[in-house]
Amino acid sequence: MAEGQGIWRYIGSGMPDHTDHEPSSEWFPQRVTPGNFLDYWTGLDARYWPRLAMYWLSAGYGSDDLRWLSRVSERDADEVTTERMVSVLRSLGVAIELPAEFLARCSRAITRIQPDLDATGFGQYRLQARNATSGNGGLPAVYAALPDGSWWSSGSAMTQDMDDAVLLLTAAESVSDTLVEVLHVFWPTCAEHGGPPMTLERNGGDAGPVWSCQRGSHVAAPLGRLTRAHVER
Ligand SMILES: [Zn+2]
Repeated sequence: MAEGQGIWRYIGSGMPDHTDHEPSSEWFPQRVTPGNFLDYWTGLDARYWPRLAMYWLSAGYGSDDLRWLSRVSERDADEVTTERMVSVLRSLGVAIELPAEFLARCSRAITRIQPDLDATGFGQYRLQARNATSGNGGLPAVYAALPDGSWWSSGSAMTQDMDDAVLLLTAAESVSDTLVEVLHVFWPTCAEHGGPPMTLERNGGDAGPVWSCQRGSHVAAPLGRLTRAHVER
């Protein structure tokens, strides 16, 4: 099919007027492949997925799920769930599940946060590493989840490119995010200054990370040394 006709014309035409998630014409759809789709996930509104599916079909990819997606009308595209998109990606051979070794690394990082939860009176919240394959419009990644599997992604995704130090800080953010967003528990908030929740930060040199109060601009305690006295209850 020649450029300017049929599907090619359809793909290239009619980008909506400005939206918050308008894909850039520089990379959409030509640069978005099944293999790198996850990199674009958060910037690519569901309404564009059928158009992308048509493009992938024309580029030689094929599966029943992909053909189904390509037939979804523009009007109904908003209703396509992330679970369905994950299914499409899987059908094209995209690995959604992160390696078990990486999940174990995340689990170890989260385990290092738990003693501070326990010591400050929040021990009933036992967090675990969860490979979230979809949800909240976010891309598959590992988050700190509650025992029932609920979790929150808001920029604190644990990803494989992180070294252990960054992974630990991100795990702490994810623990805090999940408690706040799922349970409306703000943790850990400074006993002296209140919220927002303190953040785990590098302490420089060889010293381990520390819990830091943003509002009061001070360090509360090293990781694993938080006590009830440090934290608002
Ligand atoms: Zn403080």
